[in-house]
Amino acid sequence: MENLLYLLSACLLIIGLKMLGSPKTAVRGNAIGAVGMLIAAGVALLLSRDAGGAPLEISREALIAIGVGLAAGTLAGIIASQKVQMTAMPQMVALFNGLGGAASALVATIDLFNKKAGSSVELTLSVPAALSVLIGGVTLTGSAIAFAKLQGLIGGRPLVYPLQKPLNLLLLLGAIASCCWLAAEPLDSTPLYCLAGVAAILGVLSVLPIGGADMPVVISLLNSYSGLAASAAGFVLGNNILIIAGSLVGASGLILTKIMCKAMNRSLANVLFGAFGKAPEGAAEAPATASGGTVKSGSPDDAAMILDSASLVIIVPGYGMAVAQAQHATREMADLLQKNSCEVKYAIHPVAGRMPGHMNVLLAEADVPYDQLYDMDQINSEFSQADVALVIGANDVTNPAAKTDPSSPIYGMPILDVENARTVMVLKRSMNPGFAGVDNELYGRDNTMMIFGDAKETVTRIVSGLKDL
Ligand code: NDP
Repeated sequence: MENLLYLLSACLLIIGLKMLGSPKTAVRGNAIGAVGMLIAAGVALLLSRDAGGAPLEISREALIAIGVGLAAGTLAGIIASQKVQMTAMPQMVALFNGLGGAASALVATIDLFNKKAGSSVELTLSVPAALSVLIGGVTLTGSAIAFAKLQGLIGGRPLVYPLQKPLNLLLLLGAIASCCWLAAEPLDSTPLYCLAGVAAILGVLSVLPIGGADMPVVISLLNSYSGLAASAAGFVLGNNILIIAGSLVGASGLILTKIMCKAMNRSLANVLFGAFGKAPEGAAEAPATASGGTVKSGSPDDAAMILDSASLVIIVPGYGMAVAQAQHATREMADLLQKNSCEVKYAIHPVAGRMPGHMNVLLAEADVPYDQLYDMDQINSEFSQADVALVIGANDVTNPAAKTDPSSPIYGMPILDVENARTVMVLKRSMNPGFAGVDNELYGRDNTMMIFGDAKETVTRIVSGLKDL
């Protein structure tokens, strides 16, 4: 019965994950996954058996502790889901990843401590326990640094210091050695503390050098690590569903990491060995053409006049659209343009916003038809035929320095070629840089018009302007 229910739970988790792949089915997929997890937790609590096959006895104290933990976790989850702004989701995900990693490491550690009374621990248990402590420790402190960067508590620029790579390599070797030591001596607490300490330092020092624009890669990777730590803890406990659920998170996180690496034009080796946040090798030989220029600004009425005579408008949404919650006004503006026989397309950069799929979620919320959304590879060649590229709160994902300035931290990242449009309109509040902290030379180009102000207010005023024409 126990394994049958675990199988049902695993099927629900896989179906849920599959459904998360499309905005149309994502909400239902999330609910199905939650039911799968509920079944898994219920079975683990009520139907688990010990190594001898006898039903597991759970003491009254343990049941109370589990109940309190469950209530506290549920409450924290409910409050977070109500209070946390959509724009702060990445920080929340980073925090959850870190706590997930820490929980797995603790579960594995406690299991080892409990085994102290027994005589010997098989390698099949001690190796996953050691891996869980290593991966969980790195995930906890790495996620804490990612959280601090995303929350703006520490700067988004890469923190580089002398001998960084050799030190990280040394730490990695130290972590592997401590891991082997703990696997060989699982009943000794010295290797355990040693491994936990080295893993914690490794997590901090491997995420600190990562620049702001590369955070999507690191968040996906830490997400994957948290799954791997859980899976390893599953082996320690002999719990099949924890192994399956952890592997699903680990594998999907790795797939996402690969997608994000492609979006940032980084190799996975770059990611794993902490070499990003710097210009690629040989880049210094490429010509630097980034330059200043005179910034021209216009009003929403100016924008409405230009848009009124356009026949192809490509809208480029970014993080600022999420902050301003300008998606509904943007949809209204697009409807007006389409009524005026203008073709409207949305260009979606894979790392626009602050989480994978951020722009897709926002635009789906405003009922923008899915067939008007185009990936970067599909749309980039079309900017040269567009009358207007309308950049709404996007910055880094449109910065030509990624193509022209080898000294830029975002050099090599594929961007949306908005500068090829006849007119580029940029809606933002100031000349401040985006998440990567890099100035954008697009704003000084001859065909660029800045429209300063909150994106929602500006788009709403453009809508009024279009109606008045
Ligand atoms: P950016 O962070 O580069 O730029 C957003 C711009 O929005 C800012 O320049 C800001 O300018 C403007 N803005 C903010 N609030 C408003 C508002 N109310 N109205 C109008 N404009 C506003 O965003 P992009 O989407 O272009 O790029 C995403 C960046 O985030 C990339 O560097 C990416 O690597 C990184 N990242 C992405 C993650 C992901 O998974 N997608 C995760 C973590 C990081 P101003 O202040 O002048 O208004």
